[in-house]
Amino acid sequence: MKRIALSDIDFNSEEIDRVSDVIKSKWISMGEVTKEFEQKFADYLGVKHALGVASGTAALHMANLVLDVKSGDEVILPSLTFVATANSAIYTGAKPVFADVESKYNFSISPKSIEEKITKKTKAIIVVHYAGYSCNMKQIMDIAKEKNLFVIEDAAHAPGSEVSGKKLGSIGDIGCFSFFSNKNLVAGEGGMIVTNDDKLAEKIKKIRSHGMTSLSWDRHKGHAFSYDVTDLGYNYRTNEIASALGLCQLKKLDKNNEKRKELSILYRKYLENAKGITLPYNNVKEKSSCHLFPVILDEKISRVKFMEFLKKNGIQSSIHYPPIHLFSYYKKRFGFKKGMLPLTEFIGEREVTLPLHPLLKDEDIKYIAEKIIDFCDTVK
Ligand SMILES: *Cc1c(COP(=O)(O)O)cnc(C)c1O
Repeated sequence: MKRIALSDIDFNSEEIDRVSDVIKSKWISMGEVTKEFEQKFADYLGVKHALGVASGTAALHMANLVLDVKSGDEVILPSLTFVATANSAIYTGAKPVFADVESKYNFSISPKSIEEKITKKTKAIIVVHYAGYSCNMKQIMDIAKEKNLFVIEDAAHAPGSEVSGKKLGSIGDIGCFSFFSNKNLVAGEGGMIVTNDDKLAEKIKKIRSHGMTSLSWDRHKGHAFSYDVTDLGYNYRTNEIASALGLCQLKKLDKNNEKRKELSILYRKYLENAKGITLPYNNVKEKSSCHLFPVILDEKISRVKFMEFLKKNGIQSSIHYPPIHLFSYYKKRFGFKKGMLPLTEFIGEREVTLPLHPLLKDEDIKYIAEKIIDFCDTVK
């Protein structure tokens, strides 16, 4: 039987060689390889500053911190995202305020819903470019400007995606990327935080490393002998091994995103007339990283049975996402309830993510689509 994983990693001898070089050099904490990765990532995105960090979550936490999000503030964000997006605001003491998505078949945060949630306490908006498809950044940036709010882009799904010729992550005040093992650019763990603002970049550099005024790297290079601590910082640094992987992966990113796109187009072709399945983001013209391939099941189809059937046929599937506002911790702490976000909840109940990664073959997509059509035929 076929075994098709939800995601897989395109590593080859390039990554092995680059990581070996780092290990042989014995400088494995942050150093020159990280600098090179940061520079190349900044150039790729067209931003002034890119700073390598320990994870996408660390990037999001620091984004909130340096924009001075704190206790008493509210941060507006989607509930249909990975829990880290919302946790990052709570770490600062702020309250997450969830906005609904655009529609049943467009999972981006809705500008109209954002406007409805704005209060005197609102400090920032975190947008998530779900599956690599851009939110309505024009409208969201206009709202932010009018109401004097910061915009953080959670671009964990979207390295390489664009809107109106601009790379996602480069549009808001700060962009956050993740290099976790199931993302489009993989470094094991790790992330990148990007901005065009010199002052924010300086702050991020400092709190990434304990709030210290000089790093062991600078001292090693002979720039400084002691240091002061001027802020409450963290150890949110990346390391040379992750950066070596990141450099190799960045080189392949456009090619692999293109492959994901071709496979997504194939899915759309094969599943176009499948009864019981709706394909979101069907007519997107903007360049997308095609991080995920989500489908929505009709009410008649049991999601559990659908996913069990796929599993029995060797096909891994997943759910993106169980809405955050319905997690026990969030319900208990903030009193969130079912019914608050009807569109998000609809998607949370009916979405299934199919396998999508650059190592899949056309025949894999055909196989998955045929199995899905078989299953749906048994339901009618
Ligand atoms: C993966 C992910 C994160 C967290 O990134 P980590 O590197 O795992 O900390 C945050 N937001 C979204 C939307 C993600 O997909």
